[in-house]
Amino acid sequence: MSTLELGNPTALAGDNSTAAFDVEAARRDFPILERKIHGRPLAFLDSAASAQKPRQVIEAMDEVYREHYANVHRGVYLLSQESTDLFEGARARVAKFLNAAKTEEIVFTRNATEAINLVANCFGQAKLRAGDEVIISHVEHHANIVPWQLLRDRLSIQVKVVPVDDDGNLIMDAYADLLSERTRLVAITHIANSIGTVMPLRQIIDMAHAREIPVLVDGCQAAPHLAVNVQELGCDFYVFAGHKVYGPTGIGVLYGRYDLLNSLPPFLGGGDMISSVSFEKTTFKKAPFRFEAGTPAIVESVGLAKAIDYVSDIGLPAIHAHEDGLLAYATERLTAIDGLTIYGQAKDKAAVISFTLESAHPHDIGTILDRAGVAVRAGHHCAQPTMERFGVPATVRASFGLYNTRAEVDALVDAINQVKELFE
Ligand SMILES: *Cc1c(COP(=O)(O)O)cnc(C)c1O
Repeated sequence: MSTLELGNPTALAGDNSTAAFDVEAARRDFPILERKIHGRPLAFLDSAASAQKPRQVIEAMDEVYREHYANVHRGVYLLSQESTDLFEGARARVAKFLNAAKTEEIVFTRNATEAINLVANCFGQAKLRAGDEVIISHVEHHANIVPWQLLRDRLSIQVKVVPVDDDGNLIMDAYADLLSERTRLVAITHIANSIGTVMPLRQIIDMAHAREIPVLVDGCQAAPHLAVNVQELGCDFYVFAGHKVYGPTGIGVLYGRYDLLNSLPPFLGGGDMISSVSFEKTTFKKAPFRFEAGTPAIVESVGLAKAIDYVSDIGLPAIHAHEDGLLAYATERLTAIDGLTIYGQAKDKAAVISFTLESAHPHDIGTILDRAGVAVRAGHHCAQPTMERFGVPATVRASFGLYNTRAEVDALVDAINQVKELFE
């Protein structure tokens, strides 16, 4: 029997988050959590890099390939209509997830990086001139730094950076000072992937909008952890990646205000994004299609919609509360370890803990933790300026998803104690 809702996006919608969250039941949905790593149970503490997938997502994608697959937007035959309905239904599901005003405000991209590059290219071409300024923060992912630097080199704009304090909080006075007549865009993360700072977005956006400056939010770390409401936030662009919200790789989301999207030129040229083509003149479709040249990630869109269903059924408030509990517990246990330093203690912080040990290099820690079945990230987390701000080349990062448990925090702590015994 088909588990997919065909062409009925409202049937996919809804946040049925009344029941208490049962982490053990949720864990049974993730086949990979049954794996042994070096003979030990897997403690997967790297969801900030990419989250694992529940069987609901895997099975939905399998079913599209088995039963509904064809290219979208072209065929007159039934299968193509089914796949088009699924693809456009997934778009509607994402719109509802973000509480966008219109489904047409959702553009599918390859990943979050491509979504930011799309804005940098199209917004840059339409709205930026030499001497204009784009403001970012010191704790951005490279994906929200490098596209603006490429634009700086191409258009002679300036990229201004808002500093953070020693705890990782954005320094709001410095932000206020950087906003100027030359500012054309603020591009800021919702949650810093390396140290977990949750940005005071309301205030950041209000201050920019008081000067009619649009704001792009990099929501990669927020979409899996908090209920995002783009209309309430008032942001102009919002991006996230499918794979970090328990969905597949190969698909990302750009939300943009409809009028703003339609004031931008196309991104890539090709099929599906045009109204008509001749050698003299080509006209383009409206948003979102003008930004989606070529065959899109059809099957991945369904996987993403299923992942959104999955987190919405549990309820993002319940997921957030669960992860907050893990963060508090892990912070308490790690703080008690001699010689361990945690980077980032922002007032509002998500379930990401970056740390170093006096006695061992992060990469050695990561390798030894892996032998104990504990998967963490070691390195600069695509945030070298953040590392530089805190005076370290790299950290170990443990990040928590909906399937993590206190027992896994204990496994992390035990493994860190093994590292200490080896190196001290
Ligand atoms: C992961 C991440 C990105 C990049 O996402 P991709 O899927 O690799 O494009 C950008 N910003 C933040 C904050 C991230 O965590």
